[in-house]
Amino acid sequence: MPGDDHHKIDMTRTLRVLVTGGAGFLGSHLCRSLVRQRHDVLCLDNFYTGDKRNIIDLLNEPNFELIRHDIVNPIFLEVDHIFNLACPASPMHYQFNPVKTIKTSVMGAINVLGLAKRVKARVLQASTSEVYGDPQVHPQPEDYWGHVNPVGIRSCYDEGKRCAETLFFDYHRQNKVDIKVARIFNTYGPNMASNDGRVVSNFIIQALRDKPVTIYGDGTQTRSFCYVDDLILGLEKLMVSPDGITGPINLGNPVEFQVKELADMIIKITGSKSRIKQLPLPSDDPLQRQPDISQAKTQLEWEPVVSLEEGIENTVAYFQALLTAE
Ligand code: NAD
Ligand code: UDP
Repeated sequence: MPGDDHHKIDMTRTLRVLVTGGAGFLGSHLCRSLVRQRHDVLCLDNFYTGDKRNIIDLLNEPNFELIRHDIVNPIFLEVDHIFNLACPASPMHYQFNPVKTIKTSVMGAINVLGLAKRVKARVLQASTSEVYGDPQVHPQPEDYWGHVNPVGIRSCYDEGKRCAETLFFDYHRQNKVDIKVARIFNTYGPNMASNDGRVVSNFIIQALRDKPVTIYGDGTQTRSFCYVDDLILGLEKLMVSPDGITGPINLGNPVEFQVKELADMIIKITGSKSRIKQLPLPSDDPLQRQPDISQAKTQLEWEPVVSLEEGIENTVAYFQALLTAE
């Protein structure tokens, strides 16, 4: 919609913005971007998978505050916007304490929605492509209801996020809460936790150490990888989109790669001597994943611009510095 001012990020008005999960991978980039836009940023985190080092440079900024809090418990604050990102995101971390994962998704959603209702804030949910499970429709549009195992090892995350979406839409219908729901597809970049077992961080660290690069299964399963800067802009655009736009809306990079292609690219970029090592495919691991981003393109005028090669180069530089400092 050319000329529609709603699509531009409002740099003039200072907003009080709460970012739950603000010390995590995506949260730290979002906090930094909002601080630079001169908003008053409240970063809430229980440091379950987050790290103070991700936001250390922001601690001295007058428009940044850090609150240690578990979103499973209610919180009372005066804010205009809430980005609800609190939830472990990597399979290894969300499966470590699955009951806690589902509590974080469901009770966290209830608590941010209750807060939004009380103070009339706008609230954005970081949902996920996992709501589509192991999809039987490809690429995945938002009106696909998914193919999710309700009792498997990924269910604590997938069903927790699905229930959170339900809560968002029920609070919207029942209480007129101003909601935005983003379905985020695999995102990577600096500040990913080195120990969270995600494919991009695992492969880069293994390659930089000349250790075997661990491919689960035969490596023909696909993912579509979005660089963090692109994703953060998508979240910000969704947050300031017109009232009628609630989502759910897919945010991700539609360029699809096989996991073995990613491994080859990372070995090449790092100049590594690593060899491929095949390990068993974990259960319920989706075979293919690719977002249909037509809605984000038309409603938000958003699409990713960073290629996988460029994004991987930036991420390699980040992990190289991290490993050198160890
Ligand atoms: P992350 O694990 O790096 O960040 C999550 C943050 O939430 C961490 O700082 C963690 O300490 C915090 N947290 C966890 N439980 C909490 C609780 N009970 N109370 C308060 N804080 C808590 O993960 P991420 O990749 O930055 O993901 C952020 C959000 O985006 C998550 O909700 C995730 O489900 C969603 N998402 C991410 C991706 C991706 O590829 N990175 C894809 C889809 C969805
Ligand atoms: N994967 C892999 N080797 C690893 C880590 C992950 O082959 O060391 C695979 C994993 O089985 C999955 C894909 O890479 O098919 C993406 O995994 P990740 O944990 O990053 O995210 P998700 O499965 O949630 O998309």
